[in-house]
Amino acid sequence: MSQQDKPMLVVGGGIGGVAMALALGRQGRRVQLLEQLEEIAPIGYGVQMGPNVLPMLDQLGVGQAVRRAAYLPPEIELFDAYTAQRLACVPLHGAAFDAMFPQPYIAIHRVDLHEILLQACRAYPHIEMVQAATVTGFSESAQGVQAQCADGKSFEGEAMIAADGLRSKIRAQLFPDDAPRATGYVAHRAIVPFDQAPASLQSRLGVTMWSGDGFHVIYYPLRNQSELNLVAVFRVDPPVASAAGHAEQLQAAVATCQGEVRDVLACMNLERRWAIADREPLRRWSQGRVTLLGDSAHATLQSLAQGAGMAVEDVCVLSRLIERSEGDHASAFSRFQRLRLTRTARVQLTSRALWEEYHCGGIAAQVRNQAWGERSPQDFLYCVNWLWSPVDLAELA
Ligand SMILES: Cc1cc2nc3c(=O)[nH]c(=O)nc-3n(C[C@H](O)[C@H](O)[C@H](O)COP(=O)(O)OP(=O)(O)OC[C@H]3O[C@@H](n4cnc5c(N)ncnc54)[C@H](O)[C@@H]3O)c2cc1C
Repeated sequence: MSQQDKPMLVVGGGIGGVAMALALGRQGRRVQLLEQLEEIAPIGYGVQMGPNVLPMLDQLGVGQAVRRAAYLPPEIELFDAYTAQRLACVPLHGAAFDAMFPQPYIAIHRVDLHEILLQACRAYPHIEMVQAATVTGFSESAQGVQAQCADGKSFEGEAMIAADGLRSKIRAQLFPDDAPRATGYVAHRAIVPFDQAPASLQSRLGVTMWSGDGFHVIYYPLRNQSELNLVAVFRVDPPVASAAGHAEQLQAAVATCQGEVRDVLACMNLERRWAIADREPLRRWSQGRVTLLGDSAHATLQSLAQGAGMAVEDVCVLSRLIERSEGDHASAFSRFQRLRLTRTARVQLTSRALWEEYHCGGIAAQVRNQAWGERSPQDFLYCVNWLWSPVDLAELA
């Protein structure tokens, strides 16, 4: 362990923050992770991770544990919600996939991924998890950074990495005019025991998605196919305040859809909803000894299922740069944002474009159906090659 007297401060105990604490802990650094919740615990739903992510998790020493906990979907299929026309099939195993991607595409319960990362952190006594610590802001001096918390406490560190999510307080201090971009869509999520799911949903073992005018639903198995993860995303325009009115609005939207789409809604508690938002790409997200990471830096719509993946990639790139920076954190942070800008902005902007395609109706949907129908499974793999190919960490040497 190094002789530094001040720890590195990590704000936020989501996947990005815990992975960052682990990466720094593995370098022998002291870390204080400041999390606002009384208990560091993730929202318990599924998360998909492209073949670009496992090599990063290997770098953090948790790849094998993640492989054991992961479900490997055989394909991603996208259907028209009204006609059941198959618009896309992306094979996730077989010769074409294996030739391009040596690592699998996985689906994992977020709780399992988080617990694997937390468990790995526990092996390093110099990683301290500070819970019920809501960071409200920071101040920086030549010697370090001070994080201020809502209860009046403060924490001194060498540098600060803010992984405090979409509504980051640290981003708000760095860029007061910047705010999350609301989309007018809400998400509903559920996990049900696989054998209790409607038979229509049990019949598909891949990642299955249905697209309609102003909504999509998606589902896939988890945990050795013992559970089914479901997500339903709807445009609510105008939003209806009452739970009953909201449920009616959604039922009306799927009334003329295939039964499988309605089966998804039947599994969900429509009273719980999450507003969907993303962020504008930023050219700068570091300043001096402070940097953003994960959603706080580049929150994206979930069209490509890569928000958590990008956070894990950030961690591997940033920790490698810190390791090589000989204590010059400002230089490491500035290089980090330069190296990560184009890839993360491409994820954000491509996700927005795909979002439109997923949710269009009328003539736009007809055009989408024709255009997507012309693509072969191999074509879809080529389309995601830029994303699913892992970041080359050796280049950072
Ligand atoms: C419906 C849906 C489906 C998704 N599916 C996928 C998917 O399949 N694959 C994928 O890769 N991504 C997916 N994502 C995106 C993914 O969830 C996020 O990109 C990822 O969780 C971001 O991780 P993070 O650590 O940056 O932020 P978060 O997970 O948001 O963690 C932030 C943490 O900081 C804490 N915090 C916040 N403010 C403070 C504060 N002031 N002080 C201290 N602590 C604070 C929070 O409590 C939280 O623990 C999905 C998102 C949604 C909404």
